[in-house]
Amino acid sequence: MTTIGFIGLGRMGANMSARLVEHVAKEDGRLLVYDLSQEAVQSLVAKGATAVGSAKELGDACDVVFMSLPTPPIVRETVLGEGGVGSGSRVKIIVDLSTSGPQLAQELHEALSARNIASIDAPVSGGIKGAHEGTLAIMASGPEAQYDAVQPLLARMGRPFYMGEVPGAGQVMKLVNNLLSIGAIAITAEGMAVGIKAGLDPAKMIEVLNSGTGANSATRDKWPRSVLPRTFDFGFSAALSLKDTRLLLDEAEAMGVPLQIGEIVRTYLERTLADYGAEADFTAMAKVVEADAGLDPDRSSA
Ligand code: NAD
Repeated sequence: MTTIGFIGLGRMGANMSARLVEHVAKEDGRLLVYDLSQEAVQSLVAKGATAVGSAKELGDACDVVFMSLPTPPIVRETVLGEGGVGSGSRVKIIVDLSTSGPQLAQELHEALSARNIASIDAPVSGGIKGAHEGTLAIMASGPEAQYDAVQPLLARMGRPFYMGEVPGAGQVMKLVNNLLSIGAIAITAEGMAVGIKAGLDPAKMIEVLNSGTGANSATRDKWPRSVLPRTFDFGFSAALSLKDTRLLLDEAEAMGVPLQIGEIVRTYLERTLADYGAEADFTAMAKVVEADAGLDPDRSSA
């Protein structure tokens, strides 16, 4: 019987772990879950998972542990800290589904291989919807045999891509993806602001863009769902977007690759947090651009 663990049952983790519960039960196994939020834990228990009280308990009870946690320091502490999952007596493979950057992936790999635990970085793309529907793109790297062992579990959550043995290769791929995804919000916001100022109807603009070569993930998904209705609730925080952008800028700088557009995206995200608070969704970036353009960002309709 395989016992699987899952730490971090937030917007992404709750959906990904829910998809694993049924699969693990079919294999005559169990899914054990842990989160600081009891509410998050209880909602997974209601779906058939078993709650445990700490990360270490998961490491003591599970062969494989998945994590979907907000920031690199939280991932590091959860794995390597005192009472971390890496100090568990049973765990053999730890899979980090979070976007936590290539440097941490390397650090986890070194620390865990000394304990005979394989570390797989497997960040995901596709948002809450993709996590719910099991259609995420999953960018994994780490030792191939252990990747092969967890591939069927990853396949329950989405489409796994194996990026190679080098620790952090999956993280680099994910950060590049997010630069394009978040950058698309910035450039779309700028284009939309010009059109609105010129008197064009925003909904009609999006319809046209989505029929032409300007179409991108912001025009296709973010504007129809969260910007045109002025709800700014797409489901990915500006704070986590800024974390991802900073991780990529740091990595690129270390490699000697200048990212001019990346710097602008970072500034827009910093201003989004300053103007709309720590809980702001990344789509609120559109309001920063609108305010610069002299439009009222707090208007109630597009
Ligand atoms: P979230 O903030 O909604 O969820 C994080 C969860 O981790 C929360 O339930 C929180 O209680 C829990 N947590 C925090 N510290 C903990 C600890 N020390 N021990 C146990 N649990 C702890 O975040 P999210 O949006 O689900 O994102 C998770 C990861 O996935 C991030 O790295 C993010 O960058 C990445 N990601 C998010 C999206 C998205 O659309 N939301 C898409 C792709 C990737």
